Amino acid sequence: MRKNAKQVAVIGAGFTGLVAAYRLSQMSYDVTLFEKGKTLGGLASGTKINGCNIERAYHHWFTTDTDILSLVEELRLADILKYRKSSTALCTGGKVYPFTGALDLLRYKPLSFFSRLRAGFVVMYLRFEKNWRPLSKVAALRWMERFSGRQVTEVLWRPLLQAKFHNFYASISMAWLWARIHIRARSRAKGISGEVLVYPKGGFAVVSDALCGKLRENGVKIVTEANIKKIDANFSMPYLVVGDDRQDFDAIIAAIPSPAFNFLTQDSVNISASYRTKLSSVPYLSAVCAIFSSTQDIGEHYWHSVNDTEAPFLVFINHTKLVPKEDYGGVCVYYMAAYVPEAHRLMKLSEEDVWKEWFAYLEKLFPQFDQNNVVEKIFSRFKNAQHIVDTKYEEKILPYETPIPGVYISNFTQIFPEDRGTNYAVREGNVVAKLAAKRLEFSNSLGGFEIKN
Ligand SMILES: Cc1cc2nc3c(=O)[nH]c(=O)nc-3n(C[C@H](O)[C@H](O)[C@H](O)COP(=O)(O)OP(=O)(O)OC[C@H]3O[C@@H](n4cnc5c(N)ncnc54)[C@H](O)[C@@H]3O)c2cc1C
Repeated sequence: MRKNAKQVAVIGAGFTGLVAAYRLSQMSYDVTLFEKGKTLGGLASGTKINGCNIERAYHHWFTTDTDILSLVEELRLADILKYRKSSTALCTGGKVYPFTGALDLLRYKPLSFFSRLRAGFVVMYLRFEKNWRPLSKVAALRWMERFSGRQVTEVLWRPLLQAKFHNFYASISMAWLWARIHIRARSRAKGISGEVLVYPKGGFAVVSDALCGKLRENGVKIVTEANIKKIDANFSMPYLVVGDDRQDFDAIIAAIPSPAFNFLTQDSVNISASYRTKLSSVPYLSAVCAIFSSTQDIGEHYWHSVNDTEAPFLVFINHTKLVPKEDYGGVCVYYMAAYVPEAHRLMKLSEEDVWKEWFAYLEKLFPQFDQNNVVEKIFSRFKNAQHIVDTKYEEKILPYETPIPGVYISNFTQIFPEDRGTNYAVREGNVVAKLAAKRLEFSNSLGGFEIKN
């Protein structure tokens, strides 16, 4: 096999960057992967609880997440894929209501019987409707008011949108909500009734570690704690300033959030004012995530959406209902999380104070919850964790090719109408790597590199 002499930099070692680097290395490019953090995996990166791998932010896959499931198989890890029945609950007015199937909706007391039927018909319609395009420019809140009625909107949809999108909730596109309902409904598996989710035995780290192993095998240079100061191009030659060094490349893929790209290209004359406006047109929220382990089993369901606007977190997850406690040395594992703007008090409050507030609310939801049984606590804050998908979203989606010659951008703001997720990160990583390779092949009119199997 002939090594392709062309050099490519991939910035960001989340799943998008890891996959882009992997594909380019398979095509024998000389790849360097730069990550500003100490570890790889980005938002899906892991930590340990009771000595076992766990994601810092709750993660699972749907059975419809075919891009990442195929990648796992390609990495010869199919054995780690565990298909498990999921169950959900809605926490309304401090009470927990099962909310997994149609019967649960019919028994959901906070809505009148008529509203329950109406909500059910609308969800059923969205599950089967395939054409999301007419929904793209309509606000989910208004669409739901019109078709589900005021009571259903106020009790179900407004709190859900508010929890996920904070003050931006009223502008969220109905196409985004359609995708959530439509895709979730199709997450099924043979022999298991109801919604089925997939979780890799050993955690997402097994997949990112395997990718990392492949990168090293293929000769990719992995630079962690990279101090990239600038991305630009001199005529048609893209370059990075890393620390005090300028490093030239034939192509650069920035698999980083748009605000980070905006910052690194702030001095570039290649970026027009209109491109910069587009680059900063999608606001992001941060995520605050708390994991704890306990000897106590709390709540009957895996996923608890907290539909109270005054609740301090939007979701409570009994991870053990999806992944058995034996996988964590016998302890039960839980998540609580909230999405907030970067300037929100939760981003500044001490960890101790957040735990105090969140545990106090958990005690209200589950009076049997006893803090004395808590074994370990892990607290994380993530910037650029969720983007705002509003009714003008389609106009804001950036092309992969940026105005800087040879520089590409790939991040989850380019995914629409699906929500962001590692599945789409894999898809985007594949696509941007292929595009960059095509352009490089074209510029090197002699062509000629082989794809390793
Ligand atoms: C709370 C929460 C729950 C989620 N749940 C799920 C789930 O259940 N299932 C699922 O599939 N997905 C889930 N996701 C989404 C999933 O984690 C992301 O969609 C996916 O990991 C995005 O990958 P990415 O590579 O595009 O971006 P990121 O993971 O954000 O990676 C970007 C990387 O770029 C690095 N970087 C940034 N700036 C620079 C710089 N200047 N120089 C070098 N490196 C830089 C960052 O450190 C990071 O490692 C969840 C996310 C959150 C926050």
